[in-house]
Amino acid sequence: MRPFADRISQIIPSASMAFAQRVLEKENSGRKIIDLTWGQPDFDTPEHIKNAAWKAIQSGRNGYTTSAGILELRTAIADFYNSCYQVSYNPQNEILVTPGAKQGLIYLMQALINPGDEVILFEPCWLSYRDMILLNGGVPRFIPAGEELAPDLSRLEKTINSKTKAILINNPVNPSGYVFKKSELAHIARIAERNDLYIISDEIYDRIVFTEFISLSEFKNLRDRLIIVNGFSKAYAMTGWRIGYLLGSEKIISKVSLIHQHTATCAAAPSQYAALAALIGIQDSVDVMTKVYRDRRDFMVKAINDTPFSLVRPDGTFYAMLDVSCIGADAGKNAENLLSEYGIAGVDGISYGQSAVNYVRLSLTKDKEQLTEAIERLKKPA
Ligand code: PMP
Repeated sequence: MRPFADRISQIIPSASMAFAQRVLEKENSGRKIIDLTWGQPDFDTPEHIKNAAWKAIQSGRNGYTTSAGILELRTAIADFYNSCYQVSYNPQNEILVTPGAKQGLIYLMQALINPGDEVILFEPCWLSYRDMILLNGGVPRFIPAGEELAPDLSRLEKTINSKTKAILINNPVNPSGYVFKKSELAHIARIAERNDLYIISDEIYDRIVFTEFISLSEFKNLRDRLIIVNGFSKAYAMTGWRIGYLLGSEKIISKVSLIHQHTATCAAAPSQYAALAALIGIQDSVDVMTKVYRDRRDFMVKAINDTPFSLVRPDGTFYAMLDVSCIGADAGKNAENLLSEYGIAGVDGISYGQSAVNYVRLSLTKDKEQLTEAIERLKKPA
């Protein structure tokens, strides 16, 4: 047979998906595992959102929609960004509804990257960015993390060269839970402007924050070079609905839309009506879920002191990075060791960049009882 395209040989399987198989094997061998691998809320989608989708299905809204997404939803997204961050995006041509934030990100890479173009990322960062950049012939340029896995902004300008096309930030950060400060965003904004770069800001965890959150969209002078990525998966517990969106200037959105038109056509219609209900309906469920994540964070940060391990305190997301140096961290084997020795499943830190080699990402999407059991296990290996 003739060979596959070269680009596919650079892609690696998602670490969390691959590890799920190992967890299953362990469980099948009789060990009860506390699985803190998956980056998905342990809540069901709120009732009013499910009902809106059901109503849309029953009333026959089951066909293709406008490629950019139904105007009511784009308007609700514009209103949401306006009320949260005092920014104005035109629902007619500056918003694109996508089948998940992930799809929006890959469209962006396709629209922006020429072979050899570099995209700057701060370690540790979500694993799919790397593969999305590579799939489009780009080069991910990782900036190693600073103290306590915080982004090291001091190296940003030195990393830029004639091939640099964009800076990609994730705020709050999956996996560390880091939330960028205003001064840090201002610094990134200044450098992007000075070097004429695009900035992609993935804000999918913007509602799951335990401190002040500032969106990069608030820096109005960035408007022409900034693309915001967001979605409904995390804040509204809608991972399976596959619905997200992009915000950007008409110039950028019109290009990205071309790819969307020729690939997905549009996001699934019932998911769009569900997302609309999510944004215009009561927001209590978001507050309740965020409070639960915050309580779990507080619990873990305190309880970890009774174990030989330590945790980087997250200010957002539902993740926490566990420092496993105390058990003689072993590059690429930390998650496996934690699983075999302690019966706890997480994602190996190295998947998020070399800087996180001594860590395992724990997803705090299990109830207090299971987190308490995880702490008990961390006190002593089985
Ligand atoms: N960005 C980040 C940082 C994520 O963690 C995820 C999901 N794990 C996504 C984007 C993708 O979200 P969606 O479900 O909307 O595709």
